[in-house]
Parts: sequence; C-alpha cells; structure tokens
Amino acid sequence: MATIVMKFGGTSMAGIERIRGVAARVKREVEAGNRVAVVVSAMAGETDRLVGFCKEASPLADPAEYDVVVASGEQVTSGLLAIVLQSMGLRARSWLGWQLPIHTSDAHGKARIFDVGTQALKAAMESGEVAVIPGFQGRTEDNRVTTLGRGGSDTSAVAVAAALKADRCDIYTDVEGVFTTDPRIVPRARKLGKITYEEMLELASVGAKVLQTRSVELAMKEKVRVQVLSSFSDAPGTMVVDEDEVVEQELIAGVAYDRNEAKVTIGSVPDRPGVVAAIFGPLADANINVDMIVQNIANDGTTDVTFTVPRTELARARSVLEANADAIGYARLVADDTVVKISVVGVGMRSHAGVAVTMFKALADRGINVLAITTSEIKISVLIAEEYLELAVRVLHTAYGLDAAA
Ligand code: ADP
Ligand code: ASP
Ligand code: MG
Repeated sequence: MATIVMKFGGTSMAGIERIRGVAARVKREVEAGNRVAVVVSAMAGETDRLVGFCKEASPLADPAEYDVVVASGEQVTSGLLAIVLQSMGLRARSWLGWQLPIHTSDAHGKARIFDVGTQALKAAMESGEVAVIPGFQGRTEDNRVTTLGRGGSDTSAVAVAAALKADRCDIYTDVEGVFTTDPRIVPRARKLGKITYEEMLELASVGAKVLQTRSVELAMKEKVRVQVLSSFSDAPGTMVVDEDEVVEQELIAGVAYDRNEAKVTIGSVPDRPGVVAAIFGPLADANINVDMIVQNIANDGTTDVTFTVPRTELARARSVLEANADAIGYARLVADDTVVKISVVGVGMRSHAGVAVTMFKALADRGINVLAITTSEIKISVLIAEEYLELAVRVLHTAYGLDAAA
C-alpha cells in the first residue's frame, strides 16, 4: 500500500464541477489501494480577489490579518472537496493548517514551514480516510494564521509528502507537465519527460511558476518524488529527478520569464569604497531582494549603479533609497517598471562554451536591447524591455533548438 500526496491547483478547483473531477481522480487512487492526502489551492482568481480586498481596506494592511483573509480561499475548497468525496461514498475530512498543525515562521505573507504535525493525520489515513489539506496556510508558534507566499500550495504538498514519507507527490495543474518554456507563450514548447531538481529549482526561481521555488528546494532536500501532471487529461507528466536519472541531457532545459521586475538607476554617486554598501545595506535591512546589479566604470569621479528589485517592492525600495539619499549621495534616482527578465537554464552549460553568445546574438538579430545580465553556473538571465517579452522567449526557444517538431 503506497502513501501518495495529490495536489490540485486553482484551475482544477474552480467550481463544483471541477471539484467533482478532482474527487474522481482521488477516488481512483483510493480504489487502487493507496493511502491518500490531498492538498488543494483556492479556486482560480480567489486569492487575487482576497488580496484585492486587503489592499482596498488599507494599502498598509497588517500582514497577520492579511494572512487571515487570504488563507480563507483554501479553507473553502478543502471543505468542498471533503463534502464531494463523502457524497461519492468515500470517508474524508479536511485538516486546516492550524489543526494538523503546519508550524511556520512568523514572516506573514511569506512564511516558511518548520514542520508538519502528522500524528493525527497518519492515524486518519491509516483508517482509510482521505485527508484533505488546504495548501498555502500554516500557523505560528503563538497560534496566528500564516500563508506561504503566492504559489505556496506546491510547498504545502511537498512538505506534507516529506513528513508522511510519501511514495509520490503528484502536482496536478492546468498544463500537462513542465515544458521547455511556458506553453501559453510558445505553443511549440515541448513537454519534458524528466527534469533535474537543480534545473527545476533554477527555472522556478527565475519565474517559471509551474512550481513554487521553495517546493522544489524542499523536494530536493527531502528527496520527495515530485511529478507534475494535468488535472484535465491522463497524459504522462514530468518527473523531477536527480541528475543521474536523466540519460540524454540537453544543453538547455528551458527558457523562463519574470514580469515581476523593476530597474532602478542611481545616477552620479561618488566613486569611493563603501558606496555600494550604502545603497544595498538599507535595502537588505528592509528585506528587499536585489537581483541584477550593474555598476558603470567611473568618469569624473562619479558612477551610475543600476539594479533590479521585484516590481511589487519598487515603491518600498524607492522610499528606502530616498530616506538614505544623504548617506548615499546620489544626484538622480530613476525607476523603470516596464522591464522583464528572460532566462535560459540548463546543467549542460557547465561543460559547454558559447551558450551566452547564442543568447545575445539571437536577441540582437531581432533588435532586442539587453539592459543587464546575470549568470550562474547553470543559468543566464537578461533584462529587456517588457514589450519584447514574447518575442524574446520565442526567439531563444528556437535558437536553442527547443521547438517541438511541427
Ligand atoms: P496551479 O494553479 O495549478 O498551481 P500555476 O498557474 O501556478 O498553476 O502554474 C501553472 C502555469 O505555469 C501554467 O498554466 C503555465 O502557464 C505556467 N508555466 C510557466 N512556465 C512553465 C513551464 N516551463 N512549463 C509548464 N508551465 C509553465
Ligand atoms: N492560492 C494561493 C495563490 O494563488 C496558493 C496557491 O495556489 O498555490 O497563490
Ligand atoms: Mg501554482
């Protein structure tokens, strides 16, 4: 008898008809003799709606109360799925984050899971009951509700799978698996049979939202067997695996994009030791992630520093920099939130030269200007104007030979 965790995303849970479809899949696994825990997202669009209410109520909503509001979407779908499963003759109950409990840090809105209580859960599953767990939510040491950041139900599912030592963690979504790029942007994207943890982690961290980054991190660490597959078809999905399980390694696994980018240029700062620390110290203190950084060569004793922050943090970054204007000593501060980051990822890069040149040439041939560049061992990212996003993704997908046969 295997223990499996099935996770269903927002599109799969959007309405009672879809929930019936989910329940039918769960029933199949139960009838195949498995012990099943199901992790569910809120209905598609619901979390956005709830976030909207919080913003409308106050732009500076208390993060702890924000979590109380946004966690409710998953409470609704977990109860509904339990009801539908019961109506199909299965034993099922919901286990809210605080009931299990799923212990998290107190970083409201982006809490980290510390551990998942499994005692009651295991007993229930052992007795043949299906456990339905709302994703995205947890609780702090002092009993406050938390949420795990957007897309966090993936991480809930992997954490539950790790805690239960599950044989499988199946992530059901609205596409058939992990593709060479977002299939909604490039119809000729190819579904990958397998992808390494490392590549999936890098793709997720540069914007491929098919899995939340933390879920991949956790799966890699806890050796959870994660599979991404469709809620709406029975096509085989994508297995996330160790590198030695991939027989024929491609040079590039995929192309990703991130719209949550904004570029900040600090003009004419004095070119002396300590100035970059004066810029990035206060941003770090404010918990704002800086990603790409470009510093120009100085002329006339001053220099420009350009960097990117998440678009959602731009207003905060600007106010932090303005508050520290005297200490930094800059002449201008220019922000641009019409940029996007495009990345290519592949472990093959480690052993091949010229991967970056292919990228720069393909973009140049289409007249796409590169505003900033960053690299890691298995990734190259460029910042470009937002209007070229789709063109750039398509062109790179072709340049690296990723297009599916027509
Ligand atoms: P869910 O609600 O099931 O969690 P998400 O919207 O979070 O679904 O993630 C699935 C979406 O991720 C797909 O609809 C697709 O548009 C997007 N996506 C981005 N990059 C990729 C990729 N490389 N492979 C598959 N899907 C991708
Ligand atoms: N409902 C949450 C979100 O939309 C969590 C998730 O679906 O994974 O971000
Ligand atoms: Mg998701």
